[in-house]
Amino acid sequence: MENPVIVAIDDDPQVLRAVERDLRGRFGSAYRIIAAESGSTALDVVRRLKLRGSAVALFIADQRMPAMTGVEFLAEAREIYPDAKRVLLTAYADTEVAIAAINTIQLDHYLLKPWDPPEEKLFPVLEDVLSDWQAGFLPPFEGIRLIGHRWSARAHEIKDYLARNQIPYRWLDVETEAEASELAASAGVDAAREPLVVFGDGTHLVAPSNAEIAARVGLRTHAALPYYDLVIVGGGPSGLAAAVYGASEGLKTLMVEREAPGGQAGTTSRIDNYLGFPAGLSGADLARRAVAQASRLGAEVLTPQAAVGVTVEDPYKVVRLVDGSQVSCQALVVATGVEYRKLDLPDADRLTGSGIYYGAATTEASFYRGERVAVLGGGNSAGQAAVHLARFAEHVTVLVRAGTLAAGMSAYLVDQIGATSNITVRANVNVVAVHGTEALEAVDVTDRADGSQAGLPVAAMFVFIGQAPRTDWLGDLVQRDEAGFVLTGADLARTGERPTGWLLTRQPFLLETNVPGIFCTGDVRSGSVKRIASAVGEGAMAVRFVHQHLADL
Ligand SMILES: Cc1cc2nc3c(=O)[nH]c(=O)nc-3n(C[C@H](O)[C@H](O)[C@H](O)COP(=O)(O)OP(=O)(O)OC[C@H]3O[C@@H](n4cnc5c(N)ncnc54)[C@H](O)[C@@H]3O)c2cc1C
Repeated sequence: MENPVIVAIDDDPQVLRAVERDLRGRFGSAYRIIAAESGSTALDVVRRLKLRGSAVALFIADQRMPAMTGVEFLAEAREIYPDAKRVLLTAYADTEVAIAAINTIQLDHYLLKPWDPPEEKLFPVLEDVLSDWQAGFLPPFEGIRLIGHRWSARAHEIKDYLARNQIPYRWLDVETEAEASELAASAGVDAAREPLVVFGDGTHLVAPSNAEIAARVGLRTHAALPYYDLVIVGGGPSGLAAAVYGASEGLKTLMVEREAPGGQAGTTSRIDNYLGFPAGLSGADLARRAVAQASRLGAEVLTPQAAVGVTVEDPYKVVRLVDGSQVSCQALVVATGVEYRKLDLPDADRLTGSGIYYGAATTEASFYRGERVAVLGGGNSAGQAAVHLARFAEHVTVLVRAGTLAAGMSAYLVDQIGATSNITVRANVNVVAVHGTEALEAVDVTDRADGSQAGLPVAAMFVFIGQAPRTDWLGDLVQRDEAGFVLTGADLARTGERPTGWLLTRQPFLLETNVPGIFCTGDVRSGSVKRIASAVGEGAMAVRFVHQHLADL
């Protein structure tokens, strides 16, 4: 396969030569570098590349060009290659324009000229955006192909699993794509009934479990050791942060994740408020970076693997895993987060995966290109999903129980929704029924003000109606609040008394449960803030308390 392309545009021949020289020097072995002296010349080249089926990884354009500015060029190039990364070269005076472009054309980065030395000012930035691009790039006809029926619930789960574990795959609809029928016929499988997964080497599995796929693609599901200093259950932002800090501070660390690292954050298409990423980043990128970081520092990551129970055999905690194995540790961090509340309506379960989705807007959005869809919920996750879906669907209706969108959503998302012409918001409504034989066809919506009811024809509804803590696996071991969230630190002893059964002379540490050495962080913790940054912060803090606990033993 030919190398992907980097296109550089600058009207100043001297600057263009310097960019070209630097790009060739650093990236020439893996990318084809094309330099152009104007936006219009570059667009001609880009259109030809598209016709040839070439992959473009990056556009890097100077803002100050007479006929077409860098931002204008990037906006047009984005129409042709929406997934290519966009970097703007600016003078100091153009900073405002560059910041505005982050919103208008989803600029990935801007660089101030001059960029000397390139090793410090140019290459790290470009390496970062190129590695993001590589992570989302699906090379044609290589890797895994998933063949199935559009409404197959298991096919949907497999898509979600592969996407969330950053395993590139190609989806082939057995009803519409000839290649899908050919592959299914040669495997002797009725792919309309059972999804078929074909691996790069031509072997296949029929309706495989996540664990079977994991084994084939080399994900680790069994612990290497029987004993660890620190075991973390849950691989969302909080668990990942605990793994990074635990491993970096010399603790033998194991993280166990049931579905895919990244947790809820891994399901979102764009995180705008995480510190240090002015252009935002996707949840998948955050998860990929964190797993790479934790693994590089020496943490062991098991996925998919779930904790199903824990017992205390002082001073050890023994965690039972779903495959029947167990691991023991001196300190345990519970970071199992929350899960989506499900719709309590007849037929909702039957249609789940066939038009009704919980938090799967990123995976499924492109399958609803040109269709009418709904988003149910009024929080930030619903808002992000609506904005993402609007890029694909013909129309998105946001159904909100509250009287206004602003009641539960950040202002920047309310503004984005207001500025998106194919999103309609219907406030003060309830969804009271879902309809569809094979897949979702419509939902019934009642107006809470006047009680009127009407059908809303939609091909899909993405549901974000709140969350419940994931604590079943802990049995009665740790104390929880009325809503089931785990109590820690001072919350355990509101009356000034020590928690029941607590035998130590010290009080529980800030993030410690009523069992010494069992800590709890992130969304599953009572009183937590339910944000990525706070989940990450708590994961990091917990490791500090783990050290103090270990020092006491
Ligand atoms: C769609 C969406 C968009 C969001 N956008 C933003 C945003 O832009 N900014 C922001 O700050 N916050 C955002 N949030 C909130 C943010 O994602 C959460 O606050 C954060 O992910 C909490 O992290 P956590 O690690 O505590 O839990 P989670 O992310 O819930 O992760 C918990 C993990 O534990 C695993 N697990 C559960 N039980 C077990 C078990 N028994 N064994 C093994 N593993 C288990 C789960 O599979 C999961 O991966 C968003 C949330 C959603 C749903």
